[in-house]
Amino acid sequence: MLIDSHCHVLKEYYNDIPEVLANAKKANVNIIINSAYNYLSSLEVLKTTTEFSNVYGTIGLHPENCLENFDYNIFNNLNNKIVAIGEIGLDYHYGKEKKEEQIIVFKKQLDIATSLNLPVVIHSRDATMDTIEILSNYKVKGVIHSFSGSLETAKKYISMGFLLGINGVVTFKNCKLKEILPFIPLESIILETDSPYLTPTPYRGQKNEPCHIKEIVTFLAHIYNVDVAQIAEITSKNVKRVFDI
Ligand SMILES: [Zn+2]
Repeated sequence: MLIDSHCHVLKEYYNDIPEVLANAKKANVNIIINSAYNYLSSLEVLKTTTEFSNVYGTIGLHPENCLENFDYNIFNNLNNKIVAIGEIGLDYHYGKEKKEEQIIVFKKQLDIATSLNLPVVIHSRDATMDTIEILSNYKVKGVIHSFSGSLETAKKYISMGFLLGINGVVTFKNCKLKEILPFIPLESIILETDSPYLTPTPYRGQKNEPCHIKEIVTFLAHIYNVDVAQIAEITSKNVKRVFDI
């Protein structure tokens, strides 16, 4: 069994969501965790978790959307398939000019995660130092989504109780991640597609779907020199542990 721990299976990207989920099932991807990034997508993620038995969700306000209206009361009405607050964090690549607002929104959601006792899914781009500094003031645990940093950064996050979300980026030709992954225990990573983005090789150029977890698993089996089944088993266990599924 495989799990896509982070994707955006939303109407704005897919005309036929049941078909995307059926494709996932055919590829042995039995659970997907649908991730919101603003208020409207949070409402939609909540809806998909009630419509589809194998869909879980995370809701929250992404740093790029930090200036949008967001009704924080939504966090008072979660169902038990909302497994984390996310994706939240800092993005200084696209949003450097709204750094202060990003930090306010990030901290506010870390406070909420703390009070709800939920893990967090972190988006951090070109903002490693600030992300680590802010997270170190909280007791929250969770996932560093789409991790692509150095081995040192990986070890730091792991020591803080975070898992690393690995996606199709690892299959890209110039990605340095494949050099450091053998030094990171499988118990510290989980798999994600970030669909519709980051389509793995050899499907680059097409819209990504949760079914493509299998290309990532195959690639990791090669890097770690273990069976595909072992990667699937360990990483699925990790997802269930961190998100309490
Ligand atoms: Zn994402």
